[in-house]
Amino acid sequence: MTNDDQPTLFDTAPEPWELDDQGDWLAARVVFAEPPFGPYDYSIPADQESAIAIGKRVYCPLGRGGRLMTGYCIDIIGPQHSAAHEVDVSRLRPFQRVIDAEPVIGPAMLPLAHWIAQYYLCPLGPVIEAIVPVGVRQQAGTRELTFLIAAPNWRTLAEEHKLTELQRTIMEVLASGSAALTPKELAETAGCTMAPIATLRRKGLITAFNERVQQRTHEIPPEQRQADLPLNADQQQALDEIHDAIDEHRHQTFLMFGITGSGKTEVYIRAIQKAVAHGRQAIVLVPEISLTPQTRQRFRARFQRVAVLHSHLTPAERSWHWRQIAKGQVDVVIGARSAVFAPVPRLGLIVIDEEHDGSFKQDKAPRYHAREVAAWRAAHEHVPVILGSATPSLESYQRTHDGQYRLLELPNRVLDLPLPDVATIDMRIDYGRGKGISPLSQKLRQEIRHATKNGGQVILLLNRRGYSTRVQCPKCGEVIYCPDCSIPMTFHRDGMRLACHYCDFQQEAPDRCPQCLFQAIRFSGLGTQRLEEYIHSVFPDLICERMDTDTMRRPGSHEATLNRFRKGEIHILLGTQMIAKGLDFPNVTLVGVVNADSALHFPDFRAAERTFALVTQVAGRSGRGPKGGRVLVQTFSPEHPAIIAATRHDYTRFANGELPSRASANFPPFGNLARIIVRGAAAEIARAFCEQLARQITEQMRVQGVSLTLLGPAPAPVEKLKGNFRFHLLLVSPRDVAMQPVIAAATAKLDTPDGLQWAVDIDPQDML
Ligand code: ADP
Ligand code: ZN
Repeated sequence: MTNDDQPTLFDTAPEPWELDDQGDWLAARVVFAEPPFGPYDYSIPADQESAIAIGKRVYCPLGRGGRLMTGYCIDIIGPQHSAAHEVDVSRLRPFQRVIDAEPVIGPAMLPLAHWIAQYYLCPLGPVIEAIVPVGVRQQAGTRELTFLIAAPNWRTLAEEHKLTELQRTIMEVLASGSAALTPKELAETAGCTMAPIATLRRKGLITAFNERVQQRTHEIPPEQRQADLPLNADQQQALDEIHDAIDEHRHQTFLMFGITGSGKTEVYIRAIQKAVAHGRQAIVLVPEISLTPQTRQRFRARFQRVAVLHSHLTPAERSWHWRQIAKGQVDVVIGARSAVFAPVPRLGLIVIDEEHDGSFKQDKAPRYHAREVAAWRAAHEHVPVILGSATPSLESYQRTHDGQYRLLELPNRVLDLPLPDVATIDMRIDYGRGKGISPLSQKLRQEIRHATKNGGQVILLLNRRGYSTRVQCPKCGEVIYCPDCSIPMTFHRDGMRLACHYCDFQQEAPDRCPQCLFQAIRFSGLGTQRLEEYIHSVFPDLICERMDTDTMRRPGSHEATLNRFRKGEIHILLGTQMIAKGLDFPNVTLVGVVNADSALHFPDFRAAERTFALVTQVAGRSGRGPKGGRVLVQTFSPEHPAIIAATRHDYTRFANGELPSRASANFPPFGNLARIIVRGAAAEIARAFCEQLARQITEQMRVQGVSLTLLGPAPAPVEKLKGNFRFHLLLVSPRDVAMQPVIAAATAKLDTPDGLQWAVDIDPQDML
C-alpha cells in the first residue's frame, strides 16, 4: 500500500490561477485506480494549461515504456510544494492530455475521498472510482453535437456575398436567437434544407463548434400525488426534533428506533419536505432489495423531482441522473449504498433506512460503510442524519447512550394495529417423537392451511446462504463452542476435528453430544429449493413461489413476484432474507420462520444480533391489516436469548443481554475491529505471509506505543474460497484508539509474494 506518501487531507483546493502568480511552474498531481496507484506529479503541456483542472481525468505515461494510463488529477501544485514534497520540477514528465471537459469529481467530494482513503486504508484512486459512477466516467449517454452561431462579422460578409432572400432569413434566425443551434434545429426554424446552411458555412458567415451533450434517456411517468397523512403523537414528536435541526442548519444524528409498521417512512418524508422547503436536497439510502416499485411510488407521490438509483439502471441512465443531481435538478435521491456519494449541490438531510443492514458496508475496496460516510458528509455540510430501524445495530444503539446520537422512539404501530402474536415451535420435540425432521412442523402446516383457508397469505423465511456448517446435537440442541471465544466450532472433515476460526483452537470431533451423550452429532442442510419442493408435495393446491438470489437474477423478477403476491395470485411466498425487509402487505396473516437457528451459530460475533434482527423483521411483515396476524418460529434453540427477545418484539431485552459480552471482549460497539485477510493458492505461503504481517504489526505497536489486541493468524472461517486459501488477523482496539497508523506503517514496505493478495477491512461486517 502506498498511502503514506499521499498528500494530507485538504479542505479547499487552490485554483490554478491562485497559484500562477506565486511561481513560474505548475504541475498536476495524479492518482490511478490500479497499481501503481500514485500519486505522481506530471508537468502540464502548454496546450493543456487551460484544460487541466482538479477532478478531471488525464492520460498519463507510466513506466519506462510510457504506457498511457487514465488517472485523476487530485491537485495542481506549484513551487510552494517543492520543498515539502521534494518535487523536482525539471524531472517531471508531461501528461499527454486532459480527457474531461468538466471534472468528474467535484471539489466538495475530494476531501471526502481523502478521508475514506485514510480511514479505510485504501489508495485514493480506487476510492474516486467508487465515488464516480462508471457511466459518468464513460460519458455514457452523451453525444458530440455540432452547434452553429453567426460569425461576428456576418453582416459585412453578407454585403460582400450578396445573399439570397433565403440565406438572409437563415442568418437572421441564427443571429436573433440567444443560444447556438444544431444544423437540424436551424433548418427547421428557418424552414430550409441543409444545402443553404452548408453554403453559408463555406462562405464564413456561420461558424461551427462541437460540444458533448447529455441526452435525456427516459421519461418517468408522474405518480398520482398523495397528501400528507396526519401524524400520530410519536411521529410528530420525532419530526419536531428533526425539524429543529434542519431549521438550525445543525449536524445531528438521530436514531429513529421504530417498531415494524410504526410509520418511519412517513416521518422521513416530512423531514425531507422541510429540507426541500429550505431549497436543499435529501439523500435516502435503503438496502438494494428495498428499492422496490413500492418505495419509488411512495416517494414519487410526495415529491416532484425524485431520482431513484437502483442497480438495474444502465450506465447511461445512471449518468443522466448523476448530472441532473449535480445541476440541482433533483430534490430527493433514493438509492442503495453508493447513493451516499450523490453530488447534490446543497445537501439538506441524509436518511438511512434499515440502518442495521449489512449491505451498507461495501465488501470490496474501498470497504466503506455508508453510515460512516454519511456521518462525515453530514458533519461537514452541517446537516442532520436520520438512521431508522426496528432493530438498530448495536453500534448505533450504544451511541445513543454515549450521547453521540439522539434517540427517537416510535414504540407503537400506526392506527393502533397490534404487533402479531409470536409462538415458538421447539423442533427438538418433533425429533424426539421419532419422526425425523420434516422441514415444517405439524403445527406450522396446520397454520398454513388455516391462514390460506381464511383468505390470508403466508410468508415463509428460510435463510440458507452458502455457509451453513455447524455441529449440533439434534436431540438437545447443543452447539459446540470454542472454550476461549464465544464462537461456535466448525467441523473439519479432514482429520475429523473441530476448530475455532478466531484463535485456531482445535479438538477432535466428538462422536456423541458432550451435553446429553446422544450418539448422532449432525449437520443440517435444508435450503429454500428443497423447501419449495416439500411445500408443493404437501400443499399441491396452493401456489407457492420462491424468492432468493437464484430467482432474483433477471431484472424485474423480484418486482414481478411481489406484484403477483400483492394481487393475491400467490398463496405462499417463501424465500431468504430478501422477503424480510420493508414489505408492507396487509393481507399477510401468517409468517413462518422455518429455521431461526440457520445463522445463529455462525462463527461470527454478530450471529445473535443478525438472527434477532432477521426474525424480528420478518415477524413484522405479519398483521399489517385488519385481519391481524401471527408468527410461528421453528427453532432448536427456543431458550436462546436472541430467539426469546425476537418472539417478544423486545429489542431492549436483546441489547441488554448482548452488550455485556461485547463489552468484555472489547468488541463493537465498545471497541474497534480491523481484519486483515491474506489469500493465495499456496496455503503455506499465505500462512507465512500472514505471520509476517502479524510480526510487523506487533513491531509497529511497539514503535508507536499503541497497545492493540491481536488475534490470529488463523485460517479464515471460509478457509478456501475460489481456489485460494485464506488466513486472517483480527485487531481489536479500544474505541478511542485508531488502528490505522499501526496498520499503515506495518504494511507500507511489504513485499507481497507472487500469487498472494491481502486486504485490510476496517470495521468489518463480514467475519467469514
Ligand atoms: P415502517 O417503515 O415503520 O415499518 P411504514 O412507514 O411502512 O412503517 O408505515 C406502515 C403503513 O402505515 C404504511 O402503509 C403507511 O402509509 C401507514 N402510515 C404511516 N403513518 C401513518 C399515520 N400517521 N396514519 C395512518 N397511516 C400511517
Ligand atoms: Zn477460539
